[in-house]
Amino acid sequence: MARTRRTILHTLGGLLLVLFAASGTAPAATSEVVLTILHTNDMHGRALATEPMTDEGPGGLARIATMAKTIKAANPVSIFLDAGDAVQGTPTEFMNFGTSMIRAMNAAGYDGITLGNHEFDWSATRTADLVRLCNFPAFAANVRSTATGGVWLPARESFIYTRGPLKIAVFGLATPGTVPLQWPPTIKGLRFEDPIATAKRIVPELRSKADVVICLSHLGYTDDRVLAASVSGIDFIIGGHSHTILNDRLKIGTAYIAHAGSYSRHLGRIDAKFRQTTSGWALDSVNGANGLWWTGAGYPGTALIPVTEEQPSDSLVRNSYSDAWNRTQTMLSEVIGEAPRAIPGEGGATNPKPVQVLLADLLREAVYADVGVIDGAWGTDLPAGIVTSKTIYEMVTGYTRQNVVVVRAKGSDIRKAVERIYGSDKFRYFGGIYGSIARTAQGVQWRDARIGRLALNESKEYRLAAPSYLIMDTPEFANCPVISDRVGWVKPLIIDAIRKRRVLTVPDDVMLPSKPAPIQKPSAATGLQVMP
Ligand SMILES: [Zn+2]
Repeated sequence: MARTRRTILHTLGGLLLVLFAASGTAPAATSEVVLTILHTNDMHGRALATEPMTDEGPGGLARIATMAKTIKAANPVSIFLDAGDAVQGTPTEFMNFGTSMIRAMNAAGYDGITLGNHEFDWSATRTADLVRLCNFPAFAANVRSTATGGVWLPARESFIYTRGPLKIAVFGLATPGTVPLQWPPTIKGLRFEDPIATAKRIVPELRSKADVVICLSHLGYTDDRVLAASVSGIDFIIGGHSHTILNDRLKIGTAYIAHAGSYSRHLGRIDAKFRQTTSGWALDSVNGANGLWWTGAGYPGTALIPVTEEQPSDSLVRNSYSDAWNRTQTMLSEVIGEAPRAIPGEGGATNPKPVQVLLADLLREAVYADVGVIDGAWGTDLPAGIVTSKTIYEMVTGYTRQNVVVVRAKGSDIRKAVERIYGSDKFRYFGGIYGSIARTAQGVQWRDARIGRLALNESKEYRLAAPSYLIMDTPEFANCPVISDRVGWVKPLIIDAIRKRRVLTVPDDVMLPSKPAPIQKPSAATGLQVMP
């Protein structure tokens, strides 16, 4: 081949359009073709903008879709993929169990997705509904059905796409990290297998059938590197989960690894040139590999294209999302109660933080439990005045494993947890418990311990409510018998309790630490031990 790279590239765009788009016939004259891979990951429901509760500012799938559609129109040898965690992370997503984002992805023209851990947030049944809603294949090659032992349907192991002269095999790997990240009943019936063993099994077969093998991975950047080093025959690993902004073309073994950050802030783009050989199409070069960026024919000089406010939104995506978005705005603006006086929360001048005690008490009240437990990270100062649903959505952060679980916890276990937690840096707040906390030479003691108005009975079983992750992460409660794990979700339950209570105040006798809680960090130098 005597032609220079520059000549090839300058003629390429025109050739492709004539040969593949206009005539639709197989190429006869060219021996090269450029495949454009467009990719996103970890959008977390950011359909309209990166900020979760506004449609203003940069980012958003609607803008990504405009770019993707323009690029696909210019080069039909393109594929548009998402590496998972597309859903969950905004009030709209949360209210619609991910369906609004999948509808937006259909409108955006995606060709495939790998299931991230958040696609499993609501239940395996809901995940299956989401997969069926996709107008494109959803991959999870290493997720098996425990009932059949086979691929967990309706997800797929792989799919072979035809684009121009190329056969493009895509397979997807879900993270086994989904298992410890989920409340176990949520993923009942699913078995997450070793992704590397799965890839070793699948890749040789796909290699024999296709010119290009793409792994759409939700394993995270570190594990993607291990995958690339362990399995030969993958051309591209399009990854997600770690929210990594990868501006370089990292090649390990046979595979180029690409990640596009998170929250719809970037569109990832790979342009890869293939050369025809006697046995098919072989990967020749990749734009940006070794820092060498192609010039001409509109090829970008960066791996990730930022999604700016100047980029127009795609009207199909916007329209597909607008109903869900408008319903969410109505929900968020509802006045649910009022606070006669400001209640200090995070950022308040002193510990303890009455807002958290209030939230824990509201959770307890919502499900008629004796004790409520919430995350110490929740809460901001609650100003005096009206309280809307949005106030609670802003205070109670986090979306995963926020289903409330009610367990039967023994008085002695509650005491153990209170004394351990109030003496550590893993802060949780309890609602419904009273007394005082004393820090003694023997450790933290819960004195004058009461639950409700009665003295703590160490051998009695109490109803204790908390989001599922706090139950799982608190050793004293992890093995308690579950009364119900289907009472609802933290945010709507707290909102409901405020609607009933209407006026928010913190009672004088609420149990608070007697002194500011020391936040201790484990330190090897001092030998300080923090209990798990
Ligand atoms: Zn993830």
